[in-house]
Amino acid sequence: MEKIDWKNLSFGYMKTDYNVRCAYKDGKWGELETTDSEFLNLHMAATCLHYGQEAFEGLKAFRGVDGKIRIFRLDENAHRLSSSCHGIMMAEFPIEKFREAILKVVKMNERFVPPYESGASLYIRPLLIGTGAQVGVHPANEYLFIVFVTPVGPYFKGGFSTNPYVIIRNFDRSAPLGTGIYKVGGNYAASLLANKKAHDLGYSCEFYLDAKEKKYIDEAGAANFFGIKNNTYITPLSTSILPSITNKSLMTLAEDLGMKVERRAIPIEELETFEEAGACGTAAVISPIERIDDLDENKSYVFSKDGKPGVMCEKLYNKLRGIQLGEEEDKHGWITIVE
Ligand SMILES: *Cc1c(COP(=O)(O)O)cnc(C)c1O
Repeated sequence: MEKIDWKNLSFGYMKTDYNVRCAYKDGKWGELETTDSEFLNLHMAATCLHYGQEAFEGLKAFRGVDGKIRIFRLDENAHRLSSSCHGIMMAEFPIEKFREAILKVVKMNERFVPPYESGASLYIRPLLIGTGAQVGVHPANEYLFIVFVTPVGPYFKGGFSTNPYVIIRNFDRSAPLGTGIYKVGGNYAASLLANKKAHDLGYSCEFYLDAKEKKYIDEAGAANFFGIKNNTYITPLSTSILPSITNKSLMTLAEDLGMKVERRAIPIEELETFEEAGACGTAAVISPIERIDDLDENKSYVFSKDGKPGVMCEKLYNKLRGIQLGEEEDKHGWITIVE
């Protein structure tokens, strides 16, 4: 068996031993199946290829300080996938089956769960697609759920640090009554040009404003936004952002730390008043924001002058990482241990 260089993993695809699948046909989900194939045999008229019937999830498994494998908030991902399926008229995958599939794929690929010391983790990617053939615009009659895993490196290679972001005004990721609240591939297709523009300009990622009024901060390409001031954690309430499980967890931890939590619209000008700000999601937990540039308005909102993350960002990050790695007590029942 090949040796994996855990210290130099990036966020990319690596073939692992098995993936788990489940097909929906004749109005019901079948049994979970295991395969070592990385490929699908798909009808060319499948709705996922034409009409975007595709939803996905992203979660992680960690090797803890005690050597046990922990999965973070698995049921939240199961429910969010159901919501995404409902949103684009796909068959919903049962919560219990989701749980079973995730535990199975992690267990079967146990040798790919990076060691505790490496800071790396096992990324788990469930997806659900319309496989039934359809030429007219209709939902498919057949679906396929797949979950694969791939080991990924730590997000912060040189230690917890800040990054610059940019507001992209001439693109919208999602509309107020659109699919932004669902984790569907179509939203990502809509973000690729803006994302490339941000990267070409040297930024870590793009930020979107609300599509209707262009007045409020929505979220980054694949991460929610939060700001901190006066011992308060403030994060946007918007119908066009994805309900991040990391953000939800950070709101709970902020309260545990004695902070106030507010979910409300955040006008762009308010950025000026935050003492700290972060982008949050499964990949990084928190990516502390150095600054957000609003190029069209010739403005720059700076949250860190020395490139160091703020104290509250660091506290929240350490708390959440600690729970994921079994160093901190799992008070809220967020962890599933893979036996
Ligand atoms: C997945 C995702 C996030 C982060 O959600 P987590 O559950 O915290 O990983 C944020 N924004 C978008 C658009 C996403 O797709």
